[in-house]
Amino acid sequence: MRSVRVGPEVFGGSDPVIVAGPCSVENRDMLHQTAMVLSSLGIRLLRGGAYKPRTSPYTFQGLGREGLEILRAVADEFGLSVVSEIMAVEQIASSLEFVDMIQVGARNMHNFPLLSALGRTDRPILLKRGFMATVEEWLLAAEYVVKEGNERVVLCERGIRTFEPWTRNTLDVSAIPLARNLGGYPVIVDPCHASGRRDLIEPLALAGLAAGADGVMIEVHPDPDRALSDGGQSVALGEFGELVARIRSLGARRNPTSGH
Ligand code: PEP
Ligand code: MN
Repeated sequence: MRSVRVGPEVFGGSDPVIVAGPCSVENRDMLHQTAMVLSSLGIRLLRGGAYKPRTSPYTFQGLGREGLEILRAVADEFGLSVVSEIMAVEQIASSLEFVDMIQVGARNMHNFPLLSALGRTDRPILLKRGFMATVEEWLLAAEYVVKEGNERVVLCERGIRTFEPWTRNTLDVSAIPLARNLGGYPVIVDPCHASGRRDLIEPLALAGLAAGADGVMIEVHPDPDRALSDGGQSVALGEFGELVARIRSLGARRNPTSGH
């Protein structure tokens, strides 16, 4: 298993890594409130979308470059590292200025020119699984990055599309050990996009970790009911501490020799 370092965190090390932040960067204030809470919980990786791949072109599309500037400034204030998604080759240059780990979203897992171009950067890549992709297709997408020379790839299982209407997607738990063992990449789990439901975030996060995930990515928001995207699957900041404690306690049980 290769491990991937981002700031002070190591994906594929002994402890599960927690990546958290809002679905979208909406403004400086909400990101600042979020970062303050995350930092007080000892979380070092701040996520937030600036370029948003929304299903409808009529919904909030993200702040673009301004969102990346806000992310960087707020993260620097709290000593955090930034994880943010880009959707196109033309967005690579601005992401290199502001982002520590570049996310490729589910909808772009098959964007081969983007993957190859990211393979020629020096930045770690968080590659989400396409919601219609097999594990083999996902691992081959990762190879597009690695083939160009960038070996710092972390995979993220975020649910696949099934016939079940009560969840947004279906978390494919078996894909976590499969992709880890067959691909040799660290794999994290995203219980928010996998379910689309706040009440399922904790059970799916813990299920993913029990199956061997190297970390979790969780959407949090100061006021989820007013979020401009994905509020229904976001944890309120005030409730996040409890979830973090449960994640860490499972991590410690999984690995009794670690520091926690
Ligand atoms: C996200 O992380 O906000 C996101 C858009 O995820 P996905 O690409 O998995 O839908
Ligand atoms: Mn989202």
